[in-house]
Amino acid sequence: NKIIVAIDGYSSSGKSTMARALAARIGYVYVDSGAMYRAVTLYAIRNVMVNPDHTINKERLIAALPEIRISFEAPGEDGVQHTLLNGEDVENEIHDMEVSNLVSPVAAIPEVRSRLTAMQQSFGKDKGIVMDGRDIGTTVFPNAELKIFVCASAEERARRRLKEMTEKGEKVSFDEVYKNVVERDHIDTTRAVSPLKKASDAIELDNGNMTRDEQMEWLLDKFNS
Ligand code: C5P
Repeated sequence: NKIIVAIDGYSSSGKSTMARALAARIGYVYVDSGAMYRAVTLYAIRNVMVNPDHTINKERLIAALPEIRISFEAPGEDGVQHTLLNGEDVENEIHDMEVSNLVSPVAAIPEVRSRLTAMQQSFGKDKGIVMDGRDIGTTVFPNAELKIFVCASAEERARRRLKEMTEKGEKVSFDEVYKNVVERDHIDTTRAVSPLKKASDAIELDNGNMTRDEQMEWLLDKFNS
């Protein structure tokens, strides 16, 4: 049986929605690794570790890493898993544009990555897990039994993200969201440590023209084979 399912891909490719739905369907634990990078970023913003020129004060953030605890609360009625930062539910805040704009530089800091990677690996001990992110199949679980790499055009991903944010009442423009998606793609694929790339043994899924049901059917087929 497959124990670890790694779902990697670009920003706003619908990975999280897919991964969450798959985990619920097969009775596995779902872990959103991006939420962990977002929580660290929120910590940096709240503790004034962002310089006036919008760069991160790396030294201070690295020094504070031992004080940052991240955990997840089991999904409630809404099916959404909530991310806790030092015990506080920050699920809403971590998806703010301010966090989205700073998360990729934070995720490029090697010390941040090694700490979160270790935490992610500890979640995967002895239980079925579906984890989504950028480096799950390459770095966090290189031996995952099933690896999926999700792609869709930047325009399509920005459209989806805009819809999601608008539905939540956030006021953002398509251009702003598109710019963020492209910028994160660039930082994520070019950083020195664990850059975003398809693992050689990952199966590619271009979900640009697929409904959620079609995606689930595709995933279950791969999971069962
Ligand atoms: O998946 P999500 O868009 O929420 O991830 C936010 C950011 O966190 C990504 O743009 C990327 O910079 C970083 N990330 C990462 N490695 C992961 C998951 C997320 O570097 N495994």
